[in-house]
Formats: sequence, structure tokens, C-alpha cells
Amino acid sequence: MRLILLGPPGAGKGTQAKILMEAYGIPQLSTGDILRSAIAAQTPLGLEAKAIVDRGDLVSDEIVNGIVSERLDAEDCTPGFILDGFPRTIAQAEALGEMLSEKGVALDAVVEMTADTDTLVQRIVNRARESNSARADDNEEVLRKRLGVYKEQTAPLVDYYKNLGLLRTVDGMAPVGDVTAAIRKAVGGA
Ligand code: AMP
Repeated sequence: MRLILLGPPGAGKGTQAKILMEAYGIPQLSTGDILRSAIAAQTPLGLEAKAIVDRGDLVSDEIVNGIVSERLDAEDCTPGFILDGFPRTIAQAEALGEMLSEKGVALDAVVEMTADTDTLVQRIVNRARESNSARADDNEEVLRKRLGVYKEQTAPLVDYYKNLGLLRTVDGMAPVGDVTAAIRKAVGGA
């Protein structure tokens, strides 16, 4: 099963990716998690990305495409994967398409998770409070920036994948278990 979870920050992509990873026995590939690990470890990639991630902008397509390309080569991705937070631009989606066709594989579905802005802001503010925020970008000001970036740069992917016949949309505001059930139904998984 090769899936993309698409949706604004706070829509629940990470939560669902972790549940689906267990259900399908395939890894979650979160470019945000990979970048945060690199930042924490102060690798050259982390040092380059830190200021950009902290202010809620997108890291360059070149950098994230490189991260994903390398990650997809790992053996655990052979049975499939759940992409969480990638692609975020049309250029990334096109690069992903090339990576997969070089491997001779294809996406099964792109699941769009929707939620209204007030819910997203509330969830992120709660996440920051509960986790004593390890994430410098989980505050209301940066979140509003991230939502703007999503609308401008990532939302066009909805039509992109609709045109490819891959888009499935689920209500990301439903309870977690209901969202999982809706995704599994939408992708045709058992
Ligand atoms: P996330 O954990 O998916 O919300 O990502 C956190 C931050 O990492 C984003 O606000 C971006 O700064 C950066 N990031 C994650 N994925 C990407 C991507 N596909 N393209 C560009 N920047 C990304």
C-alpha cells in the first residue's frame, strides 16, 4: 500500500500515519520528523533547515526530494509506505512521480484530510501545551504562517491528484477511530 496523507498542519496526518503504519505493516515517512531529527542532531542538513522550519516556511524542494528519494530506497519501503507531510508543492509531487516510476511502482491513493481553521489552531495550541512543545513551530503565530503556506503551495495538490484519479477525501474532524475507518474504506484496505 503506497499512500500519501495530505492536509494542513493539525489535520491529524501524523496520528493517522502511526495507526495505519501498524495496521498495514508499512513505514510512516514524515519529512517533518526527519527534519526535526536532523535539527536536534545538528547535522549539516539540520543546521541549514532550522531557521526555515522554525519560522514555518518550506525547506527547498531539492532538500526534501533528496531526503525522500534516499528514504524510499530503504528496504522497509518495499511493501509500501505512508507519506506524511510530503509532497507539499507541485514540484515535489512531480519529483515523487519520477522517483516511483523509476522504481516501477505507483501510488495507491492520496488521502486528503480536511478540517476547519479554528479546529486546526486549537489542536496545535493544545499540542504545544501538552507536549511542553518540543516544536518551536507549534505556536499560534507560526501556525498561521504554516496554514498560509499550505493554502498557497500545498492545496494545489488536491486538484493535481484529483486529475490523476488518486484523490480520496475524509473528514479530519471526526473522532480518531472514525477517521482511521474512513481512510481504510477510502483506500480499499481491509
Ligand atoms: P510537519 O511536521 O509536516 O508539519 O513539518 C514541519 C516543518 O518541516 C514544515 O513547516 C516545513 O518547514 C518543514 N517540512 C516538512 N515537510 C516538508 C516538505 N515536504 N517540504 C518543505 N518543507 C517541509
